[in-house]
Amino acid sequence: MIAADLRSGVDQLGEMIAAANVIVPFTGAGISTESGIPDFRSPGGLWSLNRPIPFDEFVASQDARDESWRRRFNMEPTFAAARPGRGHRALASLYRAGKIPAVITQNIDNLHQTSGFAADHVVELHGNTTYARCLGCEKRYNLVWARQRFESTGIAPNCDDCGEPVKTATISFGQPMPEDAMRRATELAQSCDLFLVVGSSLVVWPAAGMPLLAKNCGARLVIVNNEPTEQDDVADLVIRCDIGETLGPFVGN
Ligand code: NAD
Repeated sequence: MIAADLRSGVDQLGEMIAAANVIVPFTGAGISTESGIPDFRSPGGLWSLNRPIPFDEFVASQDARDESWRRRFNMEPTFAAARPGRGHRALASLYRAGKIPAVITQNIDNLHQTSGFAADHVVELHGNTTYARCLGCEKRYNLVWARQRFESTGIAPNCDDCGEPVKTATISFGQPMPEDAMRRATELAQSCDLFLVVGSSLVVWPAAGMPLLAKNCGARLVIVNNEPTEQDDVADLVIRCDIGETLGPFVGN
């Protein structure tokens, strides 16, 4: 059912939150646009500016790695300045209140952690762009190291230990999904009674399978997104409004 307007959407969501014992949020890039980070598919979104670099290209080509790191450094002022928005803060309030055990996110911006979720309680399906890892030995690097290396050599960095390429700790198209995060997300989707999709176009798979899994396991499904999604038909409630406006009333102490 699509909420008639913002007011009735907020009221119905409030009732569903009050009735739920275990709420699992599933977030996408839309929750972070209020924080100044563009999403992928809105007009002006990242996809309209830059074609994503698939994983096999990153591995095979120094040029692709250079371009990928150049883009990442160009985005750094945006990521560094971003602060949690009303959507992040509302979910953090419900987490502190014991209603949310963990958040499943497709985002890579670390804003759920900044808003108060313990790192262990943020299940990142597409990784995290605020640090980097070696693709060979998985050694962790910070971005300051990567930038210094890039600037001193003029090319994307390789691992000090094993010499393999270093990449932001994100999951690119064509890269295997992180097994532990997929397992934990699956368990969360199967064991909640309210599954709350916030700011996702639900077109990136296998992540987009999580709302359907939760629904099939008996959870009520709510989608908060300002555009239609392919799963609106199966949702119990669709709120087609701004996320900050919709979740703002749920920001607590
Ligand atoms: P998406 O860009 O495909 O979809 C975002 C959706 O949010 C769109 O339907 C858009 O209309 C909606 N939206 C944007 N701002 C909104 C607002 N203020 N209120 C209501 N709705 C709003 O994003 P996705 O589904 O997360 O999938 C794309 C992939 O992009 C993800 O895998 C993610 O890794 C990556 N990504 C992440 C970030 C981030 O970490 N912040 C940013 C861009 C892309």
